[in-house]
Order: sequence, then structure tokens, then C-alpha cells
Amino acid sequence: MTSGATPDATAVDSSLSSVEAYRTAILAAIAPLAPASLELAAAEGCVLAEDVTAAVALPSFDNSGMDGYAVRAADVAGAAEDSPVSLPVTGEVAAGDIGAHRLAPGTAIRIMTGAQLPAEADAVVPVEWTDGGAARVAIRRAAEHGNAVRYAGGDATEGETLLTAGTRMRPMQIAVAASAGRSAVTVRPRPRVVVLSTGDELTEPGSPLVPGRIWDSNSYMIAAAAREAGAIAYRRSGVPDDPKGVLPALEEQLAHADLLITTGGVSMGGEHDVVKAALRELGTVTFRKVAMQPGMPQGFGVIGPGGAGGVGAQGGAGGVGAERGVPIFTLPGNPVSAYVSFQMFVRPAIAALQGADDLSLPSVRATLTGPVRSPSGRRSYLRAVLDGSKVTPLSGQGSHQIAYLGRANALIVVPEWETRLPADDEVEVLVLP
Ligand code: AMP
Ligand code: MG
Repeated sequence: MTSGATPDATAVDSSLSSVEAYRTAILAAIAPLAPASLELAAAEGCVLAEDVTAAVALPSFDNSGMDGYAVRAADVAGAAEDSPVSLPVTGEVAAGDIGAHRLAPGTAIRIMTGAQLPAEADAVVPVEWTDGGAARVAIRRAAEHGNAVRYAGGDATEGETLLTAGTRMRPMQIAVAASAGRSAVTVRPRPRVVVLSTGDELTEPGSPLVPGRIWDSNSYMIAAAAREAGAIAYRRSGVPDDPKGVLPALEEQLAHADLLITTGGVSMGGEHDVVKAALRELGTVTFRKVAMQPGMPQGFGVIGPGGAGGVGAQGGAGGVGAERGVPIFTLPGNPVSAYVSFQMFVRPAIAALQGADDLSLPSVRATLTGPVRSPSGRRSYLRAVLDGSKVTPLSGQGSHQIAYLGRANALIVVPEWETRLPADDEVEVLVLP
């Protein structure tokens, strides 16, 4: 059976949220950041909160599309290889020249790419069709009316909408805004994301390791993933497993964060799950089991002034204050779980903070090169190598196996109702950024 089949009702566990339901609830709780006017150079990666219109037509004047000679098409109509037309060259116009040039009948004006077309000229003969002469030019080929001419308004008309609100400012859109004469644009800025890793076992990379400790990879990985998703990210590593330390560490970050992410301290281990213990008290963060592997234990909510409750929180909890609450994700500690959870839930949330929905991972279909297994009732995201239309599951699928994660470029999606898929089955594959 392929993964496109219908779900088996017996595979649904009501104590688990589906991936979609969980993501939908998160996105519903996220309000976009307030728009701000940013200089064009700072707007890359931000999302427009206004339409950008053309201040002038693009181009704003008729100009040459090539280096050559401005002519009247009628004057060169008879030109051919064996019977060139010879015209006197009466001047030259370069890109940026603002002087008025007028082409007299039976003459040519040397012209450069981007230079204004002289009045009365209606075609440009590329220099390649000529002998390149300075005083006189021999033209070996006829140019039709409008040849190599870029007409005013040929790209956009004055007042035309060039970019609409909601568009992400990638390099192309930055160019469009600049071409429209804009030095600043109103955008939803890049969200500021603070990543805190928790755990007594964590040691900063670069420091010596003693048995029982590990180097902190999550805070680096998740901060990098947040940056990759367009955020400005900061990391605060190694928050100790002390219930009294977690809230102050989070509170310290509230003022300069639009989104908080913790890793670790949310599994089922009781007193060592300090993030869960500390945030549960606030009543605005909800902890859920999501029907996925890896990444089953998840937590989301809004904290700080205006914190309005976690996913699925019913009424009452949290403030009704006008002040901004900060969304918080509590990701599992296992690095692969943290990574997959980030891509499934945090990445779209970063887009939502910018009023956008363009950050879901690209999904393709590919053929399995080997069989895969998956727990019943949970959707698996298996680390894999996608190569064209073939996808190879990696052998190390443990949620602690960061070395295997480092070899992956894709995730194979195995639906909740499948427990095994044979080689050669076609599957959904998410392409990792
Ligand atoms: P926890 O969710 O805190 O119970 O952690 C689950 C597993 O993830 C444990 O093996 C932790 O040592 C590991 N882990 C937690 N935080 C990190 C981190 N920042 N970097 C690497 N591994 C981590
Ligand atoms: Mg821990």
C-alpha cells in the first residue's frame, strides 16, 4: 500500500494531537509583529506590510537595449551583407547622458545600452551588424522598427502595483522597490528569536568534557535554523535543571524576544523536567503529546504580559492585557526531535510572526530505495537522503543520532496508519532547507 491511502480509524489515539491540529492551534495563537519602516538595505528577508507602486514608468524613457547605432528603420531597410548602407555618424549618446539628441534623416548616432533614444530615431542597429565606424558606419543588415529599443513603460506603467503586502523581500523584490524609487519600505521585521537550552549535562563546545556530560548542540542548531528561516536569533546555553532558575532565565529574555524556544526538560521524567514544571505553573503554556516520531512531547504557549494561553487552553488562563505576550515553544531535548519539531512547528510560526505562510518545507514524491518501519498511530519523519526521484532512509533513526541527522537532506513522511513500507513504494518527502 502506498502512503497515499486512507487512514485506518483504529490507528487514531485520542490522547495524541495530530500534527496538523497542533500546528493549526499554534498558528491561530500567533499575532503578526507590528509593521515598521525599514531602510531598503535592512528589509531583506522581511515581509511587506504595504503595496509598492511604480513612482514612474519602468523604464521611464525610451532607451537602447544594445550598443550600436540609433537610426530610422526606413534608412537601413535596404542593408544587406553584399550591399551595406553607409550613414554619417553625427554624434554619440551614452547611458546617463541627459542632453537632447535628435536624429536627422539619413544619419546615425552611436548609442550605448541604456542610453536615451534620440528623438526621431526608431531603431537601434547592434554594433555587430556594422563595421563599427566612427565618422561613417557601414550597416550590413536591416533593422526593423523598434529593433533593440526598450520602450518607456514596457516593464511597468506609472502607478502600477509592483509588490503587494505579504510579499517577502528577497533580493529580486529589493531590486523592484529600489527601481520604484523607494529608499524605505513598511515591513514586518525579522522576528527576534531567543533559544535557551536546558540541562545539567550541557557543556559549551570548546570546553573539556567529563564523563556524564555532553556538548550542547541544540542551542547552536536551533538558533541556526531560526536564522535560516529568516529570524534574528540569539542563544543562551546550558540553563541548569533547577526549577527556580528556569523562569528567571526566560523572564530575562522576554524584553528582547518575539519568540522564545527552549530545548530539553519536557519529557516524562518528573522533577528533572524543569521547563515543564516551571511553565505549567503559569497556566499559559500547554504540554501536548503529538502523534509524531520523533518529537512527541511538545509544549507551546504565550508568556509575559498579554500571555493568552497555550494550545488547547480553555478560556480564562493568562492575562487580557494589551501588552505583547511572547510565544514560547518548549522543544524536546533530543537533538533530532528538537530539529524535526522546529521544522514542523516553529518554522511556520516564524512566518506567521511576519504575517506570512511561505515557510513550509517543500514536499516531493520519491521512490524508496529500501523498506522503512514506523510506529502505528504516529507519523514518522525519517531522516533520509533524497537524490533525484529516489530517497534512501538512513540506518540511524534514533532521536539522539545527530551524526545521522548531519547526513540527511530530507525527511521521509510515513503516515500514521502505516507501520512498514517496502522498497520501491512512492512516498512523500520533505526537503530540508
Ligand atoms: P530532556 O528532554 O531534557 O530529557 O533531554 C533528552 C535528551 O536530549 C537527553 O539525552 C539530553 O542529554 C539530550 N539533550 C538535551 N539538551 C541537549 C542539547 N542542548 N544538546 C544536545 N543534547 C541535548
Ligand atoms: Mg534535560
